[in-house]
Amino acid sequence: VPAGLLLERGGAVVVEDVLVDPPAAGEIRVRIAAAGLCHTDLTASRDAPAFPVLLGHEGAGIVEALGPGVSWPSTGTKVVISWRVPCERCPACRRGRQPWCESPLGTVGPRVQRASNGAPVIPFLRAGTFCPLVVVPAQAAIPIPAEIAFSEAALIGCGVATGVGAALFEGVLSPGMDVVVIGLGGVGLNVVQGASLAGANRIIASDLLDQKIALAHEFGATHGVNPGPELPAQVAAITGGRGVDVAFEVVGRPELMEQAIDLLAPGGTLVLVGAAARDVQMHFAPRRFMSRQQRIVGSIYGACRPAEHFPLFARWALDGRLRVSPLISRTIDRLEQINEAFDAMQTGGLLRTVLVFPFEASP
Ligand SMILES: [Zn+2]
Ligand SMILES: [Zn+2]
Repeated sequence: VPAGLLLERGGAVVVEDVLVDPPAAGEIRVRIAAAGLCHTDLTASRDAPAFPVLLGHEGAGIVEALGPGVSWPSTGTKVVISWRVPCERCPACRRGRQPWCESPLGTVGPRVQRASNGAPVIPFLRAGTFCPLVVVPAQAAIPIPAEIAFSEAALIGCGVATGVGAALFEGVLSPGMDVVVIGLGGVGLNVVQGASLAGANRIIASDLLDQKIALAHEFGATHGVNPGPELPAQVAAITGGRGVDVAFEVVGRPELMEQAIDLLAPGGTLVLVGAAARDVQMHFAPRRFMSRQQRIVGSIYGACRPAEHFPLFARWALDGRLRVSPLISRTIDRLEQINEAFDAMQTGGLLRTVLVFPFEASP
């Protein structure tokens, strides 16, 4: 089957045929119907430890084959791929803190090879959804209501989980608090609607693009500001000089994280949601931070429990409590369009692009 691969560091996505093994014991094969293009896929070209990489980590589809010993979810079930399956063995899992699992599960061995030379391919984030067939541990396939569209379901598997989860499940946001969300892409808008669901008081949305601020108001933002040197003064004016209780940085730039600390009220928390480059540092004055009793929290995947929260997010999307379809700016139906779609995402306006696979006969 065709797949979107990164063959080398700094390279673009190359479409090549791959061979996908049947699922081994404890594994499952899913026929992917829709895969979201997430900014984290772009970081793989810069940050992945080894190549070739099969990109894509947001995906939804239908369970097609079960490995030995697997009885659930059954074939034909509509599922979302979770890229972080807790191992249930590490110290974090044994303490009941599965979202902080120290060694998330993937397949036991490589299940995808390049058709040209048989070399194993590494699925990005143990998922690799830019391919119509994905083999994952059975626990990575999370059943969701059949009524939800595949494209919306795909977004639940990363953008919605990461953003809504950061607001609801990191334990930093209580009803009545004031928050700022810096960066209003597909994840940032989900932080905004998560903060709204959490009962935040003022939700200040910040982005360079006015049209994204306008969209943020539809997702529950109460105020919008452009970033820049005057941002602390603007946030102070909105909050009566106090600052915000929680600042979410959803871009991944150290200068924005540093500025976000200056936006915090006493006792406030900076939540790092954006993925910075691996070699960058941030600088801040620890004395003031200590005196004001503040915190910095790193957030991956919104501290979600996928088996519990993905079906919940799907139901919320179906009943209108979560807005998911307005996050989809564009759909594409060929792997060859991925590079151009990533370029368009980086240059601004677009939120999420979803790759839709035509269903075809099983190989
Ligand atoms: Zn993602
Ligand atoms: Zn674990």
